[in-house]
Amino acid sequence: MDTKRGYKYRLYPSKRQLDKLSTQLNLCKDVYNKLLESCIEAYKKDSSFRINRKSLNSLLNKIKEENPRLSGTYSQVLQNVFDRVIKAYENFFRRVEEGNQKPGFPKFKQHYKSITYPQNNGSFKLKGNKLLLSKIGEIPIVLHRKIEGDIKTLTVERNRANQWFAVFSAEKEEKDAVAADPKEQKEVGIDRGLISLVAVSDGTKVAAPKFFRKAEERLKLRQRQASKKKKGSNNRRKAVKKLAKQYFKVTNQREDFLHKLTVMLLRNYTFIAVEKLLVDNMKRNHNYAKSISDAAWSKFLQLLKYKAESAGIQVIEVNPEYTSQECSDCGYRLMKEERLDKSDRIFKCPKCGLEMDRDVNAAINILKEGILKRARAGLAQSNAGGDEASVSDKADASIVEETGTIGPKEGSKLPTKDGSPRL
Ligand SMILES: [Zn+2]
Repeated sequence: MDTKRGYKYRLYPSKRQLDKLSTQLNLCKDVYNKLLESCIEAYKKDSSFRINRKSLNSLLNKIKEENPRLSGTYSQVLQNVFDRVIKAYENFFRRVEEGNQKPGFPKFKQHYKSITYPQNNGSFKLKGNKLLLSKIGEIPIVLHRKIEGDIKTLTVERNRANQWFAVFSAEKEEKDAVAADPKEQKEVGIDRGLISLVAVSDGTKVAAPKFFRKAEERLKLRQRQASKKKKGSNNRRKAVKKLAKQYFKVTNQREDFLHKLTVMLLRNYTFIAVEKLLVDNMKRNHNYAKSISDAAWSKFLQLLKYKAESAGIQVIEVNPEYTSQECSDCGYRLMKEERLDKSDRIFKCPKCGLEMDRDVNAAINILKEGILKRARAGLAQSNAGGDEASVSDKADASIVEETGTIGPKEGSKLPTKDGSPRL
């Protein structure tokens, strides 16, 4: 048995491609409305008129002759417009035949939202991180998950926010559809989770060991104790000494854990997208617990990138600004009152209904961003001056900065020069 599934991916057309795509939608809308108009006229003249492919085909040819711009539209895309008119009309005739007194003609379209390539016969093609579209060009695409089975059709659609998507339908034999090997998915995003230390986009979660979390708690306690003592007092000096001791204990334990963690990640994955550490936030931040966490993340990134380089594995850092507040499936961004706060563990999408662990959802968004960033970096290298991708939203400024180190070196904020923690 064959199963059919839809796969939706975000497209990032260039300005020129955007113009072309919009033109296609408008042309298709015009063709749709013209075909519809002719049918309505024919029906009004003679209510025994029934739509058939032959009559519509000759109509379509006439419309094509009258409108030379249609030569820029792929013929099968127009065929699909034609199919949509037929479908709308079939519904109309069904209502007529059911004896509906006011069956209502199919409506003219004000907006045409999508075009469909009904056959996978070379009119579209996936090539790396690009989608080749007949008459449009190569559009950067974010393939955040693998298509399983044979691709049958492609629909290119625009949403209200003027974002473009490619929706593939693919068919797969049922027996092959079971048990996709999880190891096959080697490209992952990693979220710096709130409870678990990291969450991987494939669902893996890695928590810091308990002894480490306990040591961290003790560190916070020592910090509070020290800050309560009077400056310059003996008690203060003693408390600071205890704090420094605890700080180095935590640092050592953490480093040990992070070494093991990075080795595990690099052994299992070939491409890793991670949250960038926002340096500005770090400077402004006076929260000690947050500083520790930032320092841990900084150390993690440092180790990961250093080891990845010698292992030939790509690590890309992305801006984490919206990754936790966006649906990894449909791209919906939570509005103010919907936003998750620290206690929310599950991401629930009000638009498409997705329910997922919040950190894993964020990790998938990070992976998408990472793939996009890689595509753009590749694009910038491969065609300087050509069709540059137009990317209107987040994480657009930096293209090729994967290899740089981020922010102040770990420790530049926390302990002072003599090793005692800053208070
Ligand atoms: Zn959604």
